[in-house]
Amino acid sequence: MAKYVFVTGGVTSSLGKGIIAASLAKLLQARGFTTTIQKFDPYINVDPGTLNPYEHGECYVTEDGAETDLDLGHYERFLSTPTSQANNVTTGRIYQTVINKERAGEFLGKTVQVVPHITDEIKHRMLLLGQDGKFDIVITEIGGTVGDIESTPFIETVRQIQWELPEEDVMVVHLTLIPYLSAAKELKTKPTQHSVRMLSETGVHPDVIVCRTEHPLNDDIKRKIALFCNVKAGNVIESLDASTIYEVPLMMQKEQLDLIVLKKLNIQNFKEPDLTKWNIFLDKLKHPKSTVNIGLIGKYIELQDAYKSILESFIHAGAMNEVKVNVVNVHSENITDENVNEQLAGLHGLLVAPGFGARGIEGKIVAVKYARENNLPFFGICLGMQMAVIEFARNILHLKGAHSVEMDANTEHPVIDIMEDQKGITMKGGTMRLGSYPCTITKDTLAYKIYGSTNINERHRHRYEFNNTFLKLFQEKGMVTSGVNPELGLVEIIELPNHPFFIGVQYHPELKSTVEHPAPLFVHFIAAAKVQAAKKA
Ligand code: GLN
Repeated sequence: MAKYVFVTGGVTSSLGKGIIAASLAKLLQARGFTTTIQKFDPYINVDPGTLNPYEHGECYVTEDGAETDLDLGHYERFLSTPTSQANNVTTGRIYQTVINKERAGEFLGKTVQVVPHITDEIKHRMLLLGQDGKFDIVITEIGGTVGDIESTPFIETVRQIQWELPEEDVMVVHLTLIPYLSAAKELKTKPTQHSVRMLSETGVHPDVIVCRTEHPLNDDIKRKIALFCNVKAGNVIESLDASTIYEVPLMMQKEQLDLIVLKKLNIQNFKEPDLTKWNIFLDKLKHPKSTVNIGLIGKYIELQDAYKSILESFIHAGAMNEVKVNVVNVHSENITDENVNEQLAGLHGLLVAPGFGARGIEGKIVAVKYARENNLPFFGICLGMQMAVIEFARNILHLKGAHSVEMDANTEHPVIDIMEDQKGITMKGGTMRLGSYPCTITKDTLAYKIYGSTNINERHRHRYEFNNTFLKLFQEKGMVTSGVNPELGLVEIIELPNHPFFIGVQYHPELKSTVEHPAPLFVHFIAAAKVQAAKKA
């Protein structure tokens, strides 16, 4: 059986529990342990798939097609190992399971209660990934902040697990904030004391306190926190603001978080951490040789979390190309035929983002036309690819009013249509084409040059697709459909060969980009933008 580390948060949200959990996992992985991370979220949605990006940022999709919290993206980017449906559990899913069991009569006439029925279901899922011998250490991030009403059953379950399992198999890492009062020129420990007290009142006692702080903590403060919070003196560590999240594993290594954890879990045999690849990446990231300006054309740009995986993929691909990727956010609603030259001036590449619904669509189409006509590197993802298809239909095939039936159900030229197996689906949660599907790539295409293979797998999240009744028309006028799904013939990749770099993909390559394996499409797109920048210089 695996050992379990729980990560809780106190004082405020947004302290970066996910990054701390991922950094700890990275260090343990680098020391030779198989590690996974899971997240328990307190909200009632069964999964974040039905949440608007403004509510909850990007919805991250796993290989097995789960719609999950964006923290799972960090876990994969740090560890380069896939997560699954089991790695993200919400209160909604717990209740759904328990209520379904109750309806099936599985509780044999008993009153169904939060304790033990809900907590038993939470416990089952918290321990699940550690039970088949696949992982040495399972790290569980508890969403929300200690004291929230809604995370109470999760915390209670951690208490039960701490009580049931041998002491050396479970530990709790608590992340808090040490605010700095500039008027008093002082770091304040009181909020941390309160949050640990609140946690302790529930019966859960932290073994380590990680303090987020803008200023280094001296030994006196650490000792004070340890004393008042009743943890070992060496187990209070600082987590200073970092210039990049990818530096946090090294900062945690410096603070010896991995060693503290291994000691508490009574693990004696471990090797020195091998972070060679990570360090090479970090070095390139910190020392770019030039800059490229990439326009991110989207409608959620006010909220950067909505495009988290895309932005991180740019960081991976930028390091690979030894350039700094300067992402210029352009709101698609603001782009018109009249102002496009001015809106997109100075860019070396355009990425038209994924999305849903009609808002900002025409601006995206104008942006695609601009990239196509001006030989500007273009990369369309999902909705972005669909917009490239519509632009080509309207301006090259002269199909007036060509559209996606998502935006115009009665269009005369439905070049993007609802997928056959999506017709008749009315339920919204978990019903899109989701997760990993194979794609066959034609040789002698840009896609083949990028992937170096004729068989790839990429992750999907959409309901609409290229309408193959128009396929011939597109091909005759020079659009190449370089990737298709082998079973269903769905077009997955489109490209324009008479352009320096013009590619659109129906899937989401950003979901598989990691520090150690940057997504090839992003790497080549940034390389094309680098050529463009050199031309302009
Ligand atoms: N709205 C489009 C569809 O459902 C694109 C989805 C996306 O960009 N993820 O097909």
